[in-house]
Amino acid sequence: MKFKLAHTNINVHKNLYKSGHIMSAIDELVKDETRLPSPPAIAIRILEAVKEDDSNYDELAEIILSDPSLAAKTLKAANSSIYGLPQRVGSLKMALSIIGLTAVKNIALSFIIAKELRTNSEEGFDFDLFWKRSVTAAVASDLCAVSINNKNDEDFVRGLLQDIGIVIMYLCRKDDYLRMLDEKCVSGLSIEDAENKIFGFDHQKVGSEILKKWGLPESVYMPISYHHKKTDTPSKYALSVDILYLSNKISSIYHGSNSSDNITEIKALIGGKYQKTKEEIDSLIDAVAKKSIEIFSLFEIDANDMKPYSQIIEEVNEELVKLNLSYEELLIKYKEAKNQADSVAKRLQVVNEKLKAVSIRDGLTGLYNHVYFQKHLDIELSRTIRYRKPISLMMLDLDYFKKINDAHGHRIGDIVLKKISALILNQVRISDITSRYGGEEFAIILPETELKDAAVLAERIRTSVEQNEIMTDSNTVKVTISIGVATYIPASKILSKSELLDAADSALYASKHSGRNKLSMVKLSQNISKA
Ligand code: GH3
Ligand code: MG
Ligand code: MG
Repeated sequence: MKFKLAHTNINVHKNLYKSGHIMSAIDELVKDETRLPSPPAIAIRILEAVKEDDSNYDELAEIILSDPSLAAKTLKAANSSIYGLPQRVGSLKMALSIIGLTAVKNIALSFIIAKELRTNSEEGFDFDLFWKRSVTAAVASDLCAVSINNKNDEDFVRGLLQDIGIVIMYLCRKDDYLRMLDEKCVSGLSIEDAENKIFGFDHQKVGSEILKKWGLPESVYMPISYHHKKTDTPSKYALSVDILYLSNKISSIYHGSNSSDNITEIKALIGGKYQKTKEEIDSLIDAVAKKSIEIFSLFEIDANDMKPYSQIIEEVNEELVKLNLSYEELLIKYKEAKNQADSVAKRLQVVNEKLKAVSIRDGLTGLYNHVYFQKHLDIELSRTIRYRKPISLMMLDLDYFKKINDAHGHRIGDIVLKKISALILNQVRISDITSRYGGEEFAIILPETELKDAAVLAERIRTSVEQNEIMTDSNTVKVTISIGVATYIPASKILSKSELLDAADSALYASKHSGRNKLSMVKLSQNISKA
């Protein structure tokens, strides 16, 4: 059955998965043998030779020896610290007898497959990095297995080939694979999720299938199909999968971009599940780098840019320090900004208070200004009406003030205005609202003040102004004031502000009209009475 893989419709892939056709889809992927390097004849011969239980050591040695470079590398690997043999192994046959048939076979296969699947790095896919990661993972897989007492001959080859599916997928569907890598970068998806999205299967399954096809044993290809630990692993493979998972993370410490997170994850898994101490884990990770460098040369991989673990730890710590520092810096900046904001707020408050004062006070006399007066007359009048309390409004106007200006000058006129204002302010209660109504005219709102009390106050003001001598630079100035008072006691009739104002104004006019320096009062709805 043939499947056309939909590249973007994820539902199609889900259906593929569900209906168990994933293997057919993978078959379809790897069907085109021309795109995919099949294991070379020598690998097939090796695999054939070790298939039978009573495998022939001589035959395997012969096959490997038919490729001198492969033979040399296999021997070198057998002598490397991976096997840690007490004595030097001088021949392939000796290697076979000491480290065993399976181990030698796996070493040889690793070299063959790594060589076959390593074309020159092309745009978008870095084969050198891929194999560098894979060899490091192979070494890590081997050392992890030793560390958790589960070493077997398969660890190295399993670690090495765990991601072989990536190369296979890339070689079979280059454009789609590169598109998937792009999508992975943009979306932040894990590689296996991004692969599943685009292909409907991932490199774990592809790698596992191809290795099975090539004749590698189940103990190699089965753990590989679970190595990202995304799905439940059959208990039979759990340990091998843990080792693969760890090997991949350790390799990522050295070749990935997120060393800090990988270290944390490794420590959590080996420290927790396998109860290794921090020191044991550190020395394991450290050993991986040292041994990898030795093995790289066998795979013709340049080891120059491989940093030792100590340097990576240093860099991770520096990063942490930087993060801490920048946190401290942020804190300081925040405090500075807050202080600045606080002081700006304080200054603003002062300015606002000043502005408010300016906006409600008259600049020359310091009394409330006309706007404030109008606003507060509204407020006080409605309060009067609400509480049925009396209110008196007093209007005051200096008599013949024009003459003062004319006689003494405008500056002296100003002084007189100020002195009279202070004098008036001195007579009133704090609850009274004394304002400069305009020019040489004043208005005083007297809340809760009856006519007679307002009359007493008005009279006091009138006489004090009359009696007051204002000292100027050279002479004394005397001035009188005319006053009109209107008192309103809320009854059935609701009074408007302008009616009250007009009434007080009329009373003032009456005072002027009757000769000035007078007080006139009106109780609303009553006739104006003269003082
Ligand atoms: P009356 O007794 O009828 O009120 O006569 P008056 O001269 O006081 O009234 P009038 O309305 O004819 O003139 C008011 C004068 O008050 C005019 C102006 O020169 C003076 N005046 C108004 N505001 C100021 C001020 O801020 N400073 C000074 N120096 N004089 C002012
Ligand atoms: Mg992988
Ligand atoms: Mg006047």
